[in-house]
Amino acid sequence: MNILQECQGASRIAITGHVRPDGDCVGSCLALYQYLLKKMPQARVQVYLEKPAEIFAGIKGYDQIDTLCEDTDPYDVFFVLDSVPERMMEPAQKLYAQARKTVNIDHHISNSGAGDVSYVVPGASSTAELIYELIDKEALDTDLATAIYIGIIHDTGVFQYSNTSPRTMEIGAHLIRFGFDFPKLIQETFYQKTYLQSHVLGRVLLESIRFMDGSCIVSGLDRKTMDFYGVEPKDLDGIVNHLRNIKGIHCAIFMYQTGVLEYKVSLRSDELVDVSEVASFFGGGGHVRAAGCTMKGTFHDCVNNLSLHIEKQLEAHKD
Ligand code: 5GP
Ligand code: MN
Repeated sequence: MNILQECQGASRIAITGHVRPDGDCVGSCLALYQYLLKKMPQARVQVYLEKPAEIFAGIKGYDQIDTLCEDTDPYDVFFVLDSVPERMMEPAQKLYAQARKTVNIDHHISNSGAGDVSYVVPGASSTAELIYELIDKEALDTDLATAIYIGIIHDTGVFQYSNTSPRTMEIGAHLIRFGFDFPKLIQETFYQKTYLQSHVLGRVLLESIRFMDGSCIVSGLDRKTMDFYGVEPKDLDGIVNHLRNIKGIHCAIFMYQTGVLEYKVSLRSDELVDVSEVASFFGGGGHVRAAGCTMKGTFHDCVNNLSLHIEKQLEAHKD
């Protein structure tokens, strides 16, 4: 796929990602935004996303993100990054449906392709890595390199997870040549947490429960507890990784309440469990080692339903 060819003659271009945008979603959307502004200065380019976490405020274009999406004029090209179209913010759905051309760029194995033009590469570490591969490299500058780098570090756990390939490292090496302060960026956007976030993490770890002979772990937060600490969903990023890091755990589940009898579920695993398969069964998706879904029922209903699927996979490994 050639981004500029797809945008040829376009005067209005929109870019969006998934609800509750994470680092890869924000990084890849703003990287594409910066690139198109540079290459197509005559076009109007707009990014639509739910308000991303403040830690991403240093990425160029962050202030230009439209979180309301009240525009009604149709777009010539509408990009959906890091997501299937069904998972974009609700107010953008109508504009997407009216767009002359839709383009889907993603790296989730659960995405079987969508839009008029679909570019889904499950082997890529991140959507930001795909944006790097698709752009003319002479357009790279410090701001564009920073946006792509943030996307990559957030989806690879700073080049740690198994989705990190030699190519990912080569791209990282090229990007840091642009001279941004990458140790600071990693610390401030990935590792650093507020005092409140740390308290919540402590509580989640303290209240966690192991099951299936200690091979799985689950913990969660209900609405009341989230309100007590004054935390929002975007403050909870990374908590599930702490559960997954516990010795002996093959599958970690973290859930937080999103409504009456409704939970957002995050799943993480090692090589034994394909959590994308589990999440897809419940209408979600993601990657083999990291996936998510939204489930109806009480906390215990959700855990029971998930554990049936996880157990089946763990049992299959015993044979
Ligand atoms: P997280 O647990 O961090 O929210 O998400 C882990 C991975 O699964 C991410 O790549 C994320 O995009 C994907 N994911 C999380 N929730 C959903 C969901 O409800 N639907 C789909 N299709 N993917 C999800
Ligand atoms: Mn991603």
